[in-house]
Amino acid sequence: MVAEPFRQSSNQSTQGLSTDQSQHLLSWMRILQQALTLEAENGFKNLEGRQENFHAFLVRQLTDPPSGLLPTKSQARLGQLAEAFASYPDSSESARRRLVTDSRQLLHGIRQELEPPTPIGPPRLKQGGAERKRQIPLPSGNRSLTLESPLSEVKGIGPKLAERFAGLGLLLVKDLLQYYPRDYVDYSSLRRIQALEAGEAATIVATVRRCHGFTSPRNPNLSILELQLQDPTGRLKVRRFFAGRRFSSPAYLKSQSRLYPPGVTVAVSGLVKGGPYGMSFQDPLIEVMESPHSPLRSQSIGRLLPVYALTEGLTADRFRDLVRQVLPLAASWPESLPEQRRQALRLPRRSDALVAIHHPDDQHTLKSARRRLVFDEFLLLQLGLLKRRAELRSCSAPVLQTAGRRDGLVARFLELLPFPLTAAQQRVLTEIEADLVLSEPMARLIQGDVGSGKTVVAIAALLTAVEAGWQGAFMAPTEVLAEQHYRTLCCWLPQLHVSVELLTGATTRIRRRQILDDLVNGSLKILVGTHALIEDPVAFSRLGLVVVDEQHRFGVKQRNRLLNKGLQPHLLTMTATPIPRTLALSLHGDLDVSQIDELPPGRTPIQTQMIKGCDRDQAYQLIRDQVSRGQRAYVVLPLIEDSEKLDLRSAVKVHTHLSEQVFEEFTVGLLHGRLSSSEKQGVIQSFAAGDCQVLVSTTVVEVGVDVPQASVMVIDHADRFGLAQLHQLRGRVGRGAAASHCVLINDSTNPLARQRLEVLVRSSDGFEIAEIDLRLRGPGQVLGTKQSGLPDLALASLADDGAVLEEARDEAQRLLSEDPNLTDHSRLKELLEAQWQHLSGTAHLN
Ligand code: ADP
Ligand code: MG
Repeated sequence: MVAEPFRQSSNQSTQGLSTDQSQHLLSWMRILQQALTLEAENGFKNLEGRQENFHAFLVRQLTDPPSGLLPTKSQARLGQLAEAFASYPDSSESARRRLVTDSRQLLHGIRQELEPPTPIGPPRLKQGGAERKRQIPLPSGNRSLTLESPLSEVKGIGPKLAERFAGLGLLLVKDLLQYYPRDYVDYSSLRRIQALEAGEAATIVATVRRCHGFTSPRNPNLSILELQLQDPTGRLKVRRFFAGRRFSSPAYLKSQSRLYPPGVTVAVSGLVKGGPYGMSFQDPLIEVMESPHSPLRSQSIGRLLPVYALTEGLTADRFRDLVRQVLPLAASWPESLPEQRRQALRLPRRSDALVAIHHPDDQHTLKSARRRLVFDEFLLLQLGLLKRRAELRSCSAPVLQTAGRRDGLVARFLELLPFPLTAAQQRVLTEIEADLVLSEPMARLIQGDVGSGKTVVAIAALLTAVEAGWQGAFMAPTEVLAEQHYRTLCCWLPQLHVSVELLTGATTRIRRRQILDDLVNGSLKILVGTHALIEDPVAFSRLGLVVVDEQHRFGVKQRNRLLNKGLQPHLLTMTATPIPRTLALSLHGDLDVSQIDELPPGRTPIQTQMIKGCDRDQAYQLIRDQVSRGQRAYVVLPLIEDSEKLDLRSAVKVHTHLSEQVFEEFTVGLLHGRLSSSEKQGVIQSFAAGDCQVLVSTTVVEVGVDVPQASVMVIDHADRFGLAQLHQLRGRVGRGAAASHCVLINDSTNPLARQRLEVLVRSSDGFEIAEIDLRLRGPGQVLGTKQSGLPDLALASLADDGAVLEEARDEAQRLLSEDPNLTDHSRLKELLEAQWQHLSGTAHLN
């Protein structure tokens, strides 16, 4: 049998000793080695033991080794050493050191002969810490702690530190346990010296050849401990640095180098650095091991080491120690998932996951721990959204049933349009109409790229409500956009004899009175406006449908207040910021989503290019060409006024520069947020009419300004905008048939900025762009302000954890369908209530 020789060699060491015998010998040597290490660490002072001195112990042990187990040669050598140790008390320090070192080397050599040679693959380490971890009780002094204890009760956390923790939002022990590492240094990858690669974190197990400490010749405050190491594949130098004069005393350096006498085995963890003399470690962690196979004491070496977002005045090691101290309490973390579901989902227990996220044994455990914790975050979020959705649907809404006649309002409107609806528009309209005839309120989101024709669909939906005998409201996030929608509606509704009014902050008192009266008596059918629509005196007589444009910009409370006006109306929200599915599920998980995924035909795609700031003149030439052909151009800037700090060219300055020096032959308009509403309207109108041909603007043009003749957009400091926003901005051109251009001026030297902008040059697919934007900048940035209503996700990433999100959503659906009020899932119910309480202060979710 092939396996036979192997089995033999595992029972018998190379010397022909039985396993028992060699174990006996090994434990004898281990005791000796420990004594030698201890003596070296204490400066060769001939330590006093309980019964005898170090030297006496050595003499005794060395003269009486386990009989007959050692090769004769070694036995003789041990005898010599025993004699030498007899005169140890009278020897000089250097002689003592030599003797100890010699003994260590001899023992080490014997041991290596006895122990089966380590194969030259990556070595393995035994994690002493990991083995102990499961049994370690709380450190004494922390015995009375629970998950709910204030952090100030943890040993080692004084009032000052507790205050710092409070600054991070960490008040209780359980908060600290849920303060997840933001990264890990992977010291668990064990390497041979030869296989080390620069830039990686790694651990090696090697033998010390030489060690010496010295003070830097160039800097008297810097001391260096240099170790020369070796393993079967090669040699390596490792340096540890000590900053500060107190470390530069020869005595201190000597004591340090004594820790690593030649011949001992060390485990070294750190970042591998390449250099002219080969690989080395930069200031690594080093632990002396009794043998290459003994377990490590260190909690860091050879492990996946957590890295926390730190607070001032707290070192990484200290933070890790504190977390480790309370980690045993994680075991008492209540499980929120039913056991059977947990197993079906192949998730670890939450308590185990918490331990593993802070103290992972390996990448695999870490991954599965992370999956569990991410799952929990998503599960709560989805439970909340789905419950909310169920609540929304539990109120009754008006049934907006129309006769569907050929001469009905909607049919006549569609006939008035100079174009047929695209298939996508038609499909979405059908979905909406199917919702409106139900007595549960619609909660639907239309997602569609810029220019996909959402407004037309919204108008058709509003007309359905009117045709059914109800009123409609159309809300926009800005006055400019509200006015624009109003004007669009005015193109069609008067011909259909449907009354429409605009209500904004700029509406006069008298006009406002009239509008409010007409709303209440029902003669006004459709009201367009900003948040002024939801101010208190605004009362509809029969509000059937609310359309909210650019919904994520609209405060949640504002929308809710509108919904509270009377019956629960149907709600249609629209967004042109395409949101990746993960984000949509997290943000609008309580909404049904319709997608207009097709642009009207006849659009020529926008040609996008990126240029450097110094090539601005190219962009201006392009504008000149286009404007001479009767087209119009936008120049977009990030800020209004000069900010010296950011060195941004302000819209005002650029406007002056362009109108007085660059485009003397054209009229250049200026649009920014500081203008009054009527001023803005005036500027936009003169641009639309062609009275001014170049419009310098801040991002206020972003939403909804619709001038089909505009064929060029130059975006200055494009690197300061998000991708989704740039995509939205450039959607302002290319709305007509003419070929359009977008020029992104990149003033940043950051290669990442360039890489980001290149996505826009390459792609015109809003969803793809949003997906990449999400990946590059994270959801908070993609959606803009805190207003975004995004929940706090401590660990979950909307860019990377899409699959877990889907699982969590399915599970939430299953749970709620079986147990709508979570009566049988009290833990989840509790957590959910706590979460909503926490969120109720902030804008959140519809
Ligand atoms: P969005 O709000 O989705 O960005 P709009 O509703 O403002 O897009 O439509 C952009 C432009 O396309 C408008 O000028 C609109 O009249 C026009 N449009 C809408 N639907 C169609 C269609 N099916 N065919 C051709 N043009 C359309
Ligand atoms: Mg629009």
